[in-house]
Amino acid sequence: MQTDEPHIKDISILYVEDEDAIREGYARALNRISDHVLLASNGRDGLEMFKEEKPDIVISDIRMPVMDGIEMLQKIKEIDPDCSVIFTTAHNDNAYLLQALDLQVDAYLQKPVEKNILKSKIEKLASSILREKMQFLQQKEIEAQRVILQNVLDHEKNLLVVTDFEKVHFANKAFLDIFAVESVEAFNKMCISFLNIFLPVPPYLHKGLLSDGETFYDLVEKSEETRRIVNIVGNDAHPRAYQINISRIVHEDQESYLCTMTDITRMNIERLSTEKKAYFDNLTGIFNRHKFNELFEIELNRVKRYGNNTSVSVLDIDHFKHFNDTYGHLIGDKVLQKLAETISSRIRNTDIFARWGGEEFVLLFPETSVEDARKVCEKLREAVAGIECSEAEQITASFGIAQVLPDDTMKSAFKRADDALYEAKKAGRNRVMVAS
Ligand code: GH3
Ligand code: MG
Ligand code: MG
Repeated sequence: MQTDEPHIKDISILYVEDEDAIREGYARALNRISDHVLLASNGRDGLEMFKEEKPDIVISDIRMPVMDGIEMLQKIKEIDPDCSVIFTTAHNDNAYLLQALDLQVDAYLQKPVEKNILKSKIEKLASSILREKMQFLQQKEIEAQRVILQNVLDHEKNLLVVTDFEKVHFANKAFLDIFAVESVEAFNKMCISFLNIFLPVPPYLHKGLLSDGETFYDLVEKSEETRRIVNIVGNDAHPRAYQINISRIVHEDQESYLCTMTDITRMNIERLSTEKKAYFDNLTGIFNRHKFNELFEIELNRVKRYGNNTSVSVLDIDHFKHFNDTYGHLIGDKVLQKLAETISSRIRNTDIFARWGGEEFVLLFPETSVEDARKVCEKLREAVAGIECSEAEQITASFGIAQVLPDDTMKSAFKRADDALYEAKKAGRNRVMVAS
């Protein structure tokens, strides 16, 4: 938008004079100065015209019939105290003149008025009127731009905040709506420090992760792009995940930060559910074979590097084919779930438990000798044998255990545990065997 600069021709002038000849004569001169000249022949008509047209400058005679210039000007000043006024006075108007002094008239010109003097007075008044008009138009333009910008920001779905990480200096509607506040001032009153809005829970970024002297900007910058996520609980009590981006703004030596936050709650839920599908067994909810392999590799590396005592166990339900044939697959599934629950609740949270497939499960015991693993498996075997199922008889399971050795591969360690399991089956099932 471009403001057209106002010109002296745009200035409107009301000229009030009762003598026709004088009025017509000056009207011609005034028309050369401005495109908006209004004429009236007494104070009353002049006042009416002023009310209708709001001219920028009033030039008036003092002595006039119906309403004189003083009375008209008093009424005009009530309407617009800043209106520019030039009085034209005759020699014998002194008594009037004293009254007019109170009315803050911009000029008094002695009749007969020299047209050049009138012109220069008008030009002088016009220049300050034009300056004001220009400022007014610019102000209007700035305001219009501000309204457009505010509209854009308020329609922006991302949360936008300018902050020094303590106080908020600017926030868009999307942000304020989350906290159900009307203004930044209301937000600052409610929240002592901006960083308090980020929930201190992993894997999200929050102020508890800041080291000495570090700003939240530094923390976000050093975090991997996919980890630049914060969690905010708004007024509706629903925690939401946001991808956060921060830019530094320096204005007049003042440093502040623009935080842009994009709601990724749904994406995050989808990611978590994909992760869940990839890592967890559908039926039992425990780790699947894929995740177990991943975790086993990590533990195997520890064994190779530090020579830790680590044991692995394979367990298999006894005669499960027969069980399924007798009670049906659905009851079989229920028993698999119960077995997973039973074992999960009896091992340490550092132990790793997964469904290998079918009715076979695997256990990895870090920092555990085979002897200790045997004791644990013995307890687990008893617990499995104690699982109650109202629709079917009890089940048992057999366990094979092997120590994970520094020169093992996953396959070689498993082979020994599997062999031990085979021995347990051969020896009559419902027992624990350690690889020799
Ligand atoms: P063993 O004592 O020698 O282990 O005998 P078994 O019958 O348990 O051995 P086998 O490996 O021959 O049979 C495994 C059976 O486990 C086959 C199938 O009926 C059952 N099974 C495998 N996966 C599932 C499952 O997801 N749900 C159910 N209900 N049964 C399964
Ligand atoms: Mg089997
Ligand atoms: Mg079996």
